[in-house]
Amino acid sequence: MIQATSKGPSSGAEKKVVRNQKADWHTLKRIGAAFKPYKVYLGIEFLIILATTVLGVINPFIIRAILDEAVISRSTSNLFFYATIGLSAALVGGLIGVAQSYLNSLIGQNIMRDFRDKLYSKLQMMPFRFFTSTRTGEIQSRLSNDINGAQQAVTDTFTSALATILNVVITLIAMLYINVLLTVISIALLPLFLWLTHRAGRVRRRISSLTQQTMATLHAVMQETLSVSGVLLIKTLGRQGLVRDRFKQENRKLTTLSIQQQMTGRWNMFFFNIFYTFTPAIIYIVASWQIISAKEGNAAITIGGIVAFTALQTRLFSSFSQIFPLQLNIQGSLALFDRIFEYMDMPVEIEDAPDALSLTAQQVRGEVAFKEVTFSYKRDGVAPLPDLAAKENTSNRKNGVKSAATEQGNPPVEPATPITLHSLSFHIQPGQLAALVGPSGAGKTTMTYLIPRLYDVDSGAVEIDGHDVRNIKLESLSSLIGVVTQETFLFHSSIRENLLYARPEATEEEMIAATMAAAIHERIMEFDEGYDTIVGERGYRLSGGEKQRLAIARVILKNPRILILDEATSSLDTHSERLIQAALEPLMKERTTIAIAHRLSTILSADVILVVDKGNIVEQGTHQELLERNGLYARLYNQQFMQQVIDDPLAVHSS
Ligand code: ADP
Repeated sequence: MIQATSKGPSSGAEKKVVRNQKADWHTLKRIGAAFKPYKVYLGIEFLIILATTVLGVINPFIIRAILDEAVISRSTSNLFFYATIGLSAALVGGLIGVAQSYLNSLIGQNIMRDFRDKLYSKLQMMPFRFFTSTRTGEIQSRLSNDINGAQQAVTDTFTSALATILNVVITLIAMLYINVLLTVISIALLPLFLWLTHRAGRVRRRISSLTQQTMATLHAVMQETLSVSGVLLIKTLGRQGLVRDRFKQENRKLTTLSIQQQMTGRWNMFFFNIFYTFTPAIIYIVASWQIISAKEGNAAITIGGIVAFTALQTRLFSSFSQIFPLQLNIQGSLALFDRIFEYMDMPVEIEDAPDALSLTAQQVRGEVAFKEVTFSYKRDGVAPLPDLAAKENTSNRKNGVKSAATEQGNPPVEPATPITLHSLSFHIQPGQLAALVGPSGAGKTTMTYLIPRLYDVDSGAVEIDGHDVRNIKLESLSSLIGVVTQETFLFHSSIRENLLYARPEATEEEMIAATMAAAIHERIMEFDEGYDTIVGERGYRLSGGEKQRLAIARVILKNPRILILDEATSSLDTHSERLIQAALEPLMKERTTIAIAHRLSTILSADVILVVDKGNIVEQGTHQELLERNGLYARLYNQQFMQQVIDDPLAVHSS
């Protein structure tokens, strides 16, 4: 894999060097491999480009023939003959060009489709940690922008490179065919031309990048100083003069740069014009001298030959002038491919062990045990390319979803990785309801993440019926576990599709039984389109409580052996609360439930309450036992749960 991609940003500079020396070649080889399935098309395209190039070179020879054979011998039939050949060549060349475009996009689009498919499949296999520590925008950008950019490279840059190389070679052969001495002179002039092109490109790039920077600064100044809060600050601090001067300074810089930009363009034109006048002139002088000094009828070149040669020479120079921009484009494209390959090379981390078991819900009783589980959120995730990371300010990827610094895009402070769970052990019998209770940030959610292997333990083991979850096939593990989270996610499709997502083969009756159990069937039937109602992207046609009931119905339909329930903290009205409680009852029945409990009713009906604090289980027992201990649970109960008794005594009673 590209070495620059594998580790943290600290080693960015040295890795860039590695990339320059070796990685480009490596990347090119991998891109080449992607072309493999399309090598027949590629072969045809090569022939087409070759044909177009040869046809392009024919024109100067036609001119030579017209001048030497038609004009000098005053033959109209020759003139028409060569003119027809010239026109036909142009016509055929044009038609072939169309075929080339077709092949080009066929190859490019197919290769990119392959990349998109591979990348998407890879992303589906990536661990949860990857998604919590990488911005969604960044992931999507690789999948769409980078691949689109790379596609342009495949269709434009690489074919242009091939065409340019072929052009140079064939034009040189044609020139040599006409006159060796003149070809040597042209080649001798090449370094001067290359130097001119290189210099012009460099100056243009420097000025345009400075212009971009200045424009960005100017834009930032405007945004800052003309926003409501900016204006308020400037006015209250009386800083109008200061910001005006700053604006003027940047504005002046922009003006100077724009003039420079115009003028460099003009100067470049001047030098190239001179060059393009100067070089044919040399050819004319040397060739004319060859004709004059030769014996009668024995000259090394004809008049038509001179004209044809200068045309070929211009063609040669213009092909060379494309090499520098092409080289830059190729570099840019390689960087895009590197970004794609970087994702493809990321370790999957959580995958099936070679001898993993496949367990069905019928085979599992639902006993869950944590055995001395220690876990911390690692910070050495999959880093983006260091140089790209700096450019895109993707530095906010460290601490996962819950980091405030991340959300605000501030560079994260690098704390030592804290251990989230410390040697946790507990045991939940099949069918039991275990309530996890504890202060926020204690590690409850993290504990539940370890059961379906959203993360793997650092040491110890999480077991289901005595099997380490790492020895159960991921697919069968996820079929054993159902999760109801605080935030209900619904796809932008019909209610039916959202429900059947849990079990596509479920019958209509099973689906309705599930929604009835979850107390949501009647509400669904109130919609004109019933189960075919499209719920918005975030389920905006349903209230929070309704969405939760739908999620509960979804899990009832899935019918897992083990249920993980993260009760919503946001308070709903009493009626919705009751409905959800009613929905949860059938869900929790006959399966092991681990609930991050926020409802009094849940903790009161729990078989065991695990009190979690700072990644440890500090107390364990039933409600009554724990109250009697008068420890953390008793305190939490008095602070959080007593209020619910006051708010809704019935809910407690009913449980
Ligand atoms: P609880 O569910 O008890 O509120 P969590 O399990 O969510 O607690 O969090 C436990 C600790 O782990 C907290 O300090 C939290 O900041 C941290 N944490 C949670 N998720 C992540 C993550 N994706 N990356 C890094 N740290 C995390």
